[in-house]
Amino acid sequence: MRPYFMIRMKRILITGGAGFIGSHLCERLLREGHEVICVDNFFTGSKENIVHLMENPFFELVRHDVVTPFLAEVDEIYNLACPASPVHYQYNGIKTIKTSVMGAINMLGLAKRTHAKVLQASTSEVYGDPRIHPQPESYWGYVNPTGIRSCYDEGKRCAESLFMNYHRQNDVRIKIVRIFNTYGPRMHPNDGRVVSNFIVQALQGKDITIYGDGSQTRSFQYVDDLLEGMIRLMKTPDAFIGPVNVGNPGEFTIQQLAEIVIRLTGSKSKLVYLPLPQDDPVQRKPDITLAEKELGWRPTVPLEEGLQKTIRYFKTKLEL
Ligand code: NAD
Ligand code: UDP
Repeated sequence: MRPYFMIRMKRILITGGAGFIGSHLCERLLREGHEVICVDNFFTGSKENIVHLMENPFFELVRHDVVTPFLAEVDEIYNLACPASPVHYQYNGIKTIKTSVMGAINMLGLAKRTHAKVLQASTSEVYGDPRIHPQPESYWGYVNPTGIRSCYDEGKRCAESLFMNYHRQNDVRIKIVRIFNTYGPRMHPNDGRVVSNFIVQALQGKDITIYGDGSQTRSFQYVDDLLEGMIRLMKTPDAFIGPVNVGNPGEFTIQQLAEIVIRLTGSKSKLVYLPLPQDDPVQRKPDITLAEKELGWRPTVPLEEGLQKTIRYFKTKLEL
């Protein structure tokens, strides 16, 4: 890798930069020689995730809520600010909608003024409880617009629409990535998502909580693969805007995931079956044909390898 003074250094704004994915992105872009401004209100993110970056003079941390405008001169914006786990985004659904919608408007306004490229962290949740499997970008989704997940799903769908409208009306340079379930170190131990829940429960010898009968499926992507996909997308010519799926097509039932986590941790935890939350999608798997073609990207980290790394992280975090 070339040192920072040999490449054109960009000033990059990352909203939600103190969160799980955002903190890895801050680290990676600093390593690539850029200047990073991390904006976060610490709703689900934490300073612990980025404390190791604070000594770097090219890193700035700003406590700020994206529902209000933010002014800075930047070249690129990665808009990640939004709680991502169902427990967190349902905690205050109104705020989740405001964050997605007003956050998008504020970042698009900033991009319009500065001519920055702006990337929206969208989600596989725009497909809802999909009736087409695997999900290509051309699928419009099957979303309950009034259910308990709608604050997140519809907020993200509205953000995609805002991005497209700013692009069409104002020529804003946009990119939309639809991220499928992503896991790895720095997930919050209590954030309620399935990978962190199962690993923490297994390491602590507690019951593994399977919601429903465990036959629902998800496709789990290791965080490093996602970063590679997002950065490649940002580098594509302006004509390519997405939306593009970035996820690992390996599909597992939640029951299978629980069994793998038990085996990898050597845990004696038992499986318990709890009620399935409302509108929990039955299946989810990305069609990544477009990402392969336009980004030359495909995931490289198999589930067990990524889980091993995540288990090591949680062992240290929980001091086990
Ligand atoms: P996270 O909860 O760890 O990170 C979100 C960050 O945004 C946190 O640091 C939080 O404090 C911050 N934030 C929330 N509301 C804010 C506001 N109003 N103003 C400023 N900052 C705010 O979640 P994550 O998994 O790192 O997700 C990051 C982004 O990726 C989110 O937009 C999420 O919707 C998207 N995404 C994640 C996944 C996944 O599986 N992790 C899947 C699809 C999409
Ligand atoms: N899930 C589970 N036990 C848990 C947490 C989640 O069985 O302790 C299930 C959840 O019902 C869903 C899947 O795992 O079917 C993925 O849940 P997560 O919250 O990680 O993400 P999302 O539903 O948004 O894909």
